[in-house]
Amino acid sequence: MKLKKPVKRILIIILIIIVAFIMYKYYKSNNNPNNVTQEKINETLKFVKDNNIYDEKYKDEYEKITYQDNDNFKDILVTFLPKGYKGEEINYILKLSNANINKLKDKDYIDISNYYTYKNFNVDNIDRYNKYYEEHNDYSYDLVITYVNIKLDLPVYTDPAIVSDGNDLLVLVNKYNCLEKTYRPNDLDYASGIYGNVPMRKMAKDALVKLQEAVKNEINIELLPTTAYRDYSFQSTLYNNYVKEDGVAAADTYSARPGCSEHQTGLAIDLKNPIRTNVRLSESDYAWLKENAYRFGFIIRFPGNKEFVTGYQEENWHIRYVGMDAAKIIHDDDLTLEEYIDLYVNEY
Ligand SMILES: [Zn+2]
Repeated sequence: MKLKKPVKRILIIILIIIVAFIMYKYYKSNNNPNNVTQEKINETLKFVKDNNIYDEKYKDEYEKITYQDNDNFKDILVTFLPKGYKGEEINYILKLSNANINKLKDKDYIDISNYYTYKNFNVDNIDRYNKYYEEHNDYSYDLVITYVNIKLDLPVYTDPAIVSDGNDLLVLVNKYNCLEKTYRPNDLDYASGIYGNVPMRKMAKDALVKLQEAVKNEINIELLPTTAYRDYSFQSTLYNNYVKEDGVAAADTYSARPGCSEHQTGLAIDLKNPIRTNVRLSESDYAWLKENAYRFGFIIRFPGNKEFVTGYQEENWHIRYVGMDAAKIIHDDDLTLEEYIDLYVNEY
């Protein structure tokens, strides 16, 4: 049967209406207001208009900024858009700490895109990060941040910081952070050592006793302290003698200058196996210590693979008490105390 022309025309019109309806539905679902990103962008635009801070020249940037219901949102928009930050950059400024945001406010535009995602990023150090990265572009950005934060880009012993609380369990004493000449722990106790009683802080002594029991039970050796707490004047004599023998540059690689020795904290202990003559522990004794010291709250303070971080040659006999939590992370993540403090203690 052949359809009449008008009927054919009506059928074509109905078909066009159906196709148009389907296309309309499809278009509408793709622009659904429940689409979060779209909604957030609309919210940013609405926000700037409602708050009378809309500026036509930032129209494209507003569209890239994810709205945040946050007291600082308005302040951040009016501060950073005029400095030249793009919408995407505003999104990551919104994720920085308040301290970092305040530091950034005082500066002209700077490109922080390589650094802002790391939790120990410090706006104050941005120029040093860039310089250090240029000199060490085989390092990843997170290493650059940590190494600059712990001052590896600066010469040692120039204007070292004075430690504010020598009694802090996590006190950091190195070539950039030194103790007051007069600092002396007020809870010194004594452990029996190879050459007599060895003074050290009580918590280090209690932990050492447990470590000694374990090493005796597990590999049947003794590890006895030779020296632990040393006061400023003792360290002065020691260091000056080394300088007389070897010169300053060499002495600095293995001995701390007075005030900058971890031994003055009373938390560092040098251990020795009494049946051996060498100061260094044997490979097998050290293998046990390296894998087990953390169980008692100690770390290997100057490991061989981190000489450039600690500034000291490997000392496989020198342990430092830091408590169980820090010791476990330092051991598991192969960190130094410097790196641990920067990553887990300091807030930027
Ligand atoms: Zn030592």
